[in-house]
Amino acid sequence: MSRIGVLGAGISGLTAAYQLRQHGHSVQVLEATNRPGGVIRSETTDGFLVEHGPNSLRPSPLMEKTIQSLSLDEERVWANDVASTRYIVRDGQPLPLPTSVGGFLTTNLFSSYAKLRLLGEPFVGRSSDPKESLADFTRRRLGPDVLDYAVAPFVGGVYAGDPEQLSARHAFERLVEWEDEYGSLFWGAMRSTEESSSDVDVPSGLFSFQQGIETLPRALADALEDSIQYETPVTGLHQNGDTWSVSVDPSTPAPKSQTFDDLICTFPLHQLNTLSLFSSVDLSPLTDVPYPPVQVVALGYSSSAVSHPLDGFGMLVPPVEHDYDILGTLFSSTLFPGRAPVDHALLTTFVGGARAPELASRDAGAIQSIVERDLDRLLGITGDPVFSRHVHWPRAIPQYVLGYGAVKDTLTALEETTPGLYFAGNYRQGVAVGDAMASGASAADRLRSSL
Ligand SMILES: Cc1cc2nc3c(=O)[nH]c(=O)nc-3n(C[C@H](O)[C@H](O)[C@H](O)COP(=O)(O)OP(=O)(O)OC[C@H]3O[C@@H](n4cnc5c(N)ncnc54)[C@H](O)[C@@H]3O)c2cc1C
Repeated sequence: MSRIGVLGAGISGLTAAYQLRQHGHSVQVLEATNRPGGVIRSETTDGFLVEHGPNSLRPSPLMEKTIQSLSLDEERVWANDVASTRYIVRDGQPLPLPTSVGGFLTTNLFSSYAKLRLLGEPFVGRSSDPKESLADFTRRRLGPDVLDYAVAPFVGGVYAGDPEQLSARHAFERLVEWEDEYGSLFWGAMRSTEESSSDVDVPSGLFSFQQGIETLPRALADALEDSIQYETPVTGLHQNGDTWSVSVDPSTPAPKSQTFDDLICTFPLHQLNTLSLFSSVDLSPLTDVPYPPVQVVALGYSSSAVSHPLDGFGMLVPPVEHDYDILGTLFSSTLFPGRAPVDHALLTTFVGGARAPELASRDAGAIQSIVERDLDRLLGITGDPVFSRHVHWPRAIPQYVLGYGAVKDTLTALEETTPGLYFAGNYRQGVAVGDAMASGASAADRLRSSL
């Protein structure tokens, strides 16, 4: 039987290992830290449940199969119905993003010209530029107002990214496919709702778990039992004929070297620089992918200190709102139950990203002042927070920047020229947790079909 090593116990690595185990393979997972989940981490202090990384999950066929197989349905919590409301700040006011035709016609979020311009979307021609930025794509198809007050803040929320730097084709593949196939995003959206089908019943809505998102990687790790070796930082990968020798940081108690027939590597791409991986393929497209820093600031307030009803998913702040520095805030205690003590609210704010990387490196006190100043003005907060927790991600989320095709091509070339080495992670099929799981599962499939 093949000896398989999975490098990294984030959600991609855990999913890959779990899929392989379910098909009867023996797997060893090597993880640098002392816990599973990677950026997924849920922490409860003084009755406030803070998510260090992802806050909500979207169902997918693979996610549903995994949740059923781990018997996690009972622990699942669904987002409050009001979470369908998402606020966007315009002229210092959080305004709901319209979700109906009536709401769209009456909203002050978009100008009358922008609304008329949007009606013409099905008649806009295709672009001949395969490297079009998301900003140019949106300006061309939907107009500048939709870029400023919908797409740019949304991209700040998903990627902590900048639409001028992101590739339309790689960061929002679906939209470009709709243009390619139907000539219009409007028709594409209509047709995709009609066509979506799967062998699993996929519910709609966002979800988490009673104890937070970490429930999912913990359950995967429990199912993998003693196949995970923690505190095992990999420092090098060396191919010896048909086998791989994996070296581990000698300053740790873990075995210094381990041998495998096949490897699935799920580290963030910037880690590849630190591994002595000898390959004929130029790795620079991979190691050049930017991962801008993000600060997560969770603040707890007495409910009576917050004037805003917090009746939504949260609010996003567009970059054109120059008086504010935050990327956006989740109304965490509205979104899911059990996130704050009774009569208290938990707000989770994101700062930095590709839009303002320098802000994310400020010290905790300076960041908290920025966040409090913006929240006080936008949500009418009068008192001081009664709880605070800061999380600094020096390298948070990979950016699917212009020319990202070279990253995907390099990964394919590496897999083709280096038998027994596979790659999975949030840099392959999308940055959401569900995408990272899908990339882990497809790496496991590629490995199995090679055996
Ligand atoms: C602040 C933030 C908010 C987010 N919000 C959401 C959200 O609301 N919804 C959503 O769907 N997604 C969200 N995401 C994205 C999503 O959480 C990630 O893309 C996904 O969890 C990444 O999983 P991964 O396994 O690819 O990588 P990682 O989680 O980075 O896992 C990689 C693992 O490899 C290990 N490792 C690294 N180097 C070594 C080494 N040398 N040796 C051994 N092990 C090593 C690491 O310790 C880690 O455990 C968010 C991300 C962040 C940072």
